[in-house]
Amino acid sequence: MAVSGLGPYDPQNIFAKILRGEIPCRTVFENTFALAFHDIAPKAPVHVLVIPKGPYVSFADFSTTASDAEIAGFTRAVGHVASLLGLDEAGYRLLSNMGAAAGQEVPHFHVHLFGGAALGPMLH
Ligand code: IMP
Repeated sequence: MAVSGLGPYDPQNIFAKILRGEIPCRTVFENTFALAFHDIAPKAPVHVLVIPKGPYVSFADFSTTASDAEIAGFTRAVGHVASLLGLDEAGYRLLSNMGAAAGQEVPHFHVHLFGGAALGPMLH
């Protein structure tokens, strides 16, 4: 699915390479539906990326073409990662850049999870 100038899914994107184990990452959590790992350039004390295992370019692609099981499994994984990181009490921020206008750099759908500090009104 081509969305917001990102084109069709490119299996050579960096997160696809991480999923295949071709590039290392600092894994926080992994299951059937999702992989969570630390962002290489953190913008908060906790900055983790959660990505689905399937080949989805963006949120628009994921939300319209993934199966209900994938969407539920991924969403639950995001919440589980936040709990694993001990962020439930203090709170955290979820963010997903969708397409060119939002400055999405990596064309594999991902959710940023920020926490570990009082976050300003906007982080990105
Ligand atoms: P986007 O702008 O929403 O697409 O965010 C992409 C994120 O991926 C940025 O926060 C980058 O720092 C992060 N990133 C890029 N390459 C890597 C990597 O190899 N490992 C972990 N994070 C990465």
